[in-house]
Order: sequence, then structure tokens, then C-alpha cells
Amino acid sequence: MSVTTSSSPVELHPKVKAFLADGPKKLFIGGKFVESVSGKTFPSINPANGEVLVEVYEADAPDVDRAVEAAERALEGPWSKISPSERGRLLWKLADLIEENQEPLAQLETLDNGKPIRETRKADLPLVIDHFRYYAGWATKITGDTLSNSVSPYLFTYTRREPIGVVGQIIPWNFPLLMAAWKLGAALATGNVVVLKTAEQTPLSALYLAELIQEAGFPDGVVNILSGFGPTAGAAIVRHPRIRKVAFTGSTEVGKIIMREAAGNLKRVSLELGGKSPNIVFPDADFNRAVKGALHGIFFNQGQVCSAGSRLFVHKKVYDNFLSDLTDYASKLKQGPGLDETTEIGPLVSEEQFERVTGYLNKGKEEGAKPLVGGEPKPGPGYFVPPTVFADVHDRMTIAKEEIFGPVVAAMPFDDEEQIADVIRRANDTEYGLAAGVWTTDLRKAHRVAHALQAGTVWVNCYNVFDANVPFGGYKQSGFGREMGHYALDLYTEVKAVWVNIE
Ligand code: NAD
Repeated sequence: MSVTTSSSPVELHPKVKAFLADGPKKLFIGGKFVESVSGKTFPSINPANGEVLVEVYEADAPDVDRAVEAAERALEGPWSKISPSERGRLLWKLADLIEENQEPLAQLETLDNGKPIRETRKADLPLVIDHFRYYAGWATKITGDTLSNSVSPYLFTYTRREPIGVVGQIIPWNFPLLMAAWKLGAALATGNVVVLKTAEQTPLSALYLAELIQEAGFPDGVVNILSGFGPTAGAAIVRHPRIRKVAFTGSTEVGKIIMREAAGNLKRVSLELGGKSPNIVFPDADFNRAVKGALHGIFFNQGQVCSAGSRLFVHKKVYDNFLSDLTDYASKLKQGPGLDETTEIGPLVSEEQFERVTGYLNKGKEEGAKPLVGGEPKPGPGYFVPPTVFADVHDRMTIAKEEIFGPVVAAMPFDDEEQIADVIRRANDTEYGLAAGVWTTDLRKAHRVAHALQAGTVWVNCYNVFDANVPFGGYKQSGFGREMGHYALDLYTEVKAVWVNIE
């Protein structure tokens, strides 16, 4: 495995060049691009070489105030007069504009985050476009119920689903544009107005998206996008007395802070948090498919995926062969800058993440796990950690318990072909509960295991598959609330019961 020099570099799109030349990038408030009140900026870094891409204005509490005021003006003014079908049309138009700008958006995302351009083009952008189209459809299908009551035949009762109002959204850096889409789609389809804060590591693609939101014709202030840091701009959103809901995707640690801080005005809270997902391979599994599934399950997006299959349980009958093939595939993954057409695994997002993952590599070795491939970070420039497969891992080791959020898998054998209870107990023995994988050709076993796993998503004979119509979210300390599908509509609406005396 080698860190390649660019063998097929991507030619930067003129729109990307223009976007980066036009710095420092401004905040998007009230339909305008504006400087932060403080005038402070921070750099957005290219993780493939550690160089500054562009400076970005840094939002803080006064900017959050401005964004909330703009959002309120939109909510009370033009947005309240826009019909559901017009809301749907705006979302659809936005999807069209993203489609027209796929290449510059993909390049910008790859530059800022590091992910391979082939993934950004094939996974991130199509999912983003589909997501906005999906929620465009929901805008006209927000319904209440007509209800019976036992009080009087002259009382007519029904419910309405109404928008919550000003919604705060805080997103992470691993899928910057897709996380923005997950948050904005359902919130806008249901008629809310939004103040969204991007992750400080990856502010760029959402600012490009802001231009498209403007072009699509959303009224000023319906969507406000702030670049900035968690303890300042993020905390100001969470504490803001006139923001009525906060939707957060990020670490479990910060999720707990958010819950505490949101108590000030009893904001509605939804949390999509971390994971340490088990991926279980039974001996009757389709061997090659399972190996490739385990590979994709952990190394997709450099392992910086909340649902990454980072605890790999392989039945001892196939354990040695399985790890041998997995190691072989992992060693052939081509690692390099994301903006190289041939790159299959890019750098980690930041120096901080590089240090964090390197710390786990060292911890794994100290505690006696054996790296079959990888195990050592690459020297700079850039934040490259090679795909790493650890064998000889025990359930109580740090690398088997804590979320690493990097290209590192902890492989563990199990031995209970008849009694699957033991591997289920081990798989569930974690405070996380985001996702899980099961590989078997036995239909009964597949469903029994899927039902027994404590996880918001279970993939059977597949891994890391997502669709706008299928809900995603966590059990236990992986959070609560479900994004995507009709489930997300619940996160962004209040239910009002109306009693009418018709006597
Ligand atoms: P993080 O929690 O450090 O940051 C996430 C966001 O929260 C960023 O925008 C950050 O600026 C902000 N933030 C940080 N401190 C804050 C505070 N005190 N108040 C308000 N906002 C604050 O997480 P990260 O390192 O950026 O992302 C990785 C984590 O996100 C992983 O744990 C991963 O599992 C999780 N994640 C979960 C999902 C999911 O859907 N469940 C998806 C992607 C990532």
C-alpha cells in the first residue's frame, strides 16, 4: 500500500477556482453573503497536503442573533404565504441546480474533506440530489387526522401538523453536503426556517449550496448558513431562546452537552451520534461478498462514517481465511489525494483526526492487538492513515470499545454456530446502537439476529447502504430521532389538536 503521487489528477473546475479565489468566504444570512460581526476568519485546510484552501468568516453569538432575526422575518413574512406545492417546487429546483453543479460541488467537497472524488461523485452527490427531490414530494403530503371523540357528537376533532418555527441545525465534517441535505430537506418540506452551522473543518460545500438556495428562489432568511466553531457559534444556537428545536449530528460527547444546554428553553432535540457497529460474519455466508462487504463497511470514507462496521466478528471456522483476504484487499486499496481519479482511500479530514486515529493505532498495539496490514500513519504532507486490520482483538480492548472514526477495524473470532446468543450478547455489549451487519445465507438466522441486535439500522448481506426513504438513527447513546423517510417529518412538526363545537 502506498501513498501515491497524483497519477490522474482532476482538473479543477472553473467554478471551483472562482469560488476559492473569492475569499474570505462569507456567512449566508438573510439571503446575503455577509462578513461576521467580529470580522474574524479561520482557514479551511486541504487535508491532502495541509495547505490553506481559503479563509472563511467565523460566526459567533451576534451572527447567530442576526440569523435568527432573518429567519423569523422569513417565517412571519414570505415563507408563511408560500403554498406547500410551491415549497416542493423550490426543493425540486434546488435539486436540479445541485445536479447542474455536481462536478464543482464534488470537487469542493473532496478538496475540503479529503474523500476520494470517485466516491463524492458516485455516492455523496447522487444521495444529496435524491434527498432534496424526495422531500420535495413530502411538502404536499403533510397531513393531520380526523379523530373521533367520546365527549359529544357535536364536537368535531382533528389534528394539524405545523412547523416548529426557527430550527437550529449543527452538522459534522464527514459528509458535509449530505448532512446538510439530511437536515434541510425535512425541515423545509415541513415549512420551518433554518439556522445551520457547518463543521469548522468543512465549511465550503454548504456555502456553495447557499448560492444555489438563493438561485432556486427561496425567500431571504429561510435558510441561513453559518461557518464557525462548536463552543462559540454552535453553543449560541443551542442556547438561543428563540430557536425552538436543535437537530445535531456529531459525537456522543457533544450530543450530551447539547441536551443539557437545550434545556434552557426546552428545545426539541434530535441527536444522530457516534457508533461502534458490529459486523457479524457467519460461516455459511457468501464468503467473497462478505469480505468485500466488511472492506467497504470499514474503509468507506476513510472509516469516518458513524455507522462504520468497526467491530468485525468472524466465525472461527472462516476467521483465518477471511482475515487473509480482507488484509489482501485492504493492502491493495490505493491511497492518495482525493482529487486523483484513481484514489480509493484519501486522507483523514484534519490533523486533529490524524492524531486521534494514530493514538488508537498505538493503543491497539500496546494492548496486544496485531495489525495485519497498516498500523502506522504515513509521514506528511497530508493526514494519511493506511487501512488497518487489527487481529487478536479482545472485546475489552480500547480499540474494540471506543469509536475510532478512522480506517481501523478490530477483528474478533466467535464460536457458536448453533447458539447465536453469545455473539449477539457481545455485539450488543456497547453503549452505542447505531448500525450492525449480518452475513449469512440462512434466512431464519438472518432475521433472528437482525431482530436481536440493538441498533437503529441492520444490514443483512450488505453494508453502508442509505436511501432517502429509509430512516436512520440510533439506539442507546447513538442518539434519538430518525432522519429520512416519513419519520423525519415528526422531528420538524408540532401536532395541534383542534376542537370545534358544531352544535
Ligand atoms: P463533533 O461532535 O466534535 O462536532 C460536530 C458538530 O458539533 C460540529 O459542527 C461542531 O462544531 C459542533 N460542536 C462541537 N462542540 C459543540 C458545542 N459545545 N455546542 C454546539 N456545537 C458543537 O463531531 P465530529 O468530530 O465533527 O464528527 C464526528 C462524530 O459525528 C462521530 O462521533 C460520528 O459518529 C458522528 N456522526 C454521526 C452521524 C449519525 O448520523 N449518527 C453521522 C455523522 C457523524
